[in-house]
Amino acid sequence: MEFENLKLKCECGGDMKKITAEWKSIEVRGWICLKCGEEILNPADAQMALEIEKARKRNLLTVKLRRVGKSNVVTVPQPIMEAEKFKEGQELEWRIEGRKLVLTP
Ligand SMILES: [Zn+2]
Repeated sequence: MEFENLKLKCECGGDMKKITAEWKSIEVRGWICLKCGEEILNPADAQMALEIEKARKRNLLTVKLRRVGKSNVVTVPQPIMEAEKFKEGQELEWRIEGRKLVLTP
C-alpha cells in the first residue's frame, strides 16, 4: 500500500486530512489533524525537500541560460531530476504563470 494513501489517525485520536504544506517554498505533502492541528509530513517529500534545500545552498539549483545552436538551453539540476523522476528524452512543457515559468512533465 502506498504511504500517501494511508488513512492516518493522530495520537490525539483525531482524523487526519491530506494537505500540501510549503517548506522553504518547496511543496511537501502531508497530513493535518482536524482535532489538534498536528501536522505530519510525507517522509519521501520531506526527504526530497531536504535534498533540494541542500542543493540550493550549494548553488546547484542556479542555472545559466546557454545557447546551443539556435536554441537557448537551461539545465535541470540533478535533485530536481530525481525528485520529479524526469528522464532523458522526456517531453516537458513550459507554462508562464504570472511572473513564473513552470516546467511540467
Ligand atoms: Zn490530533
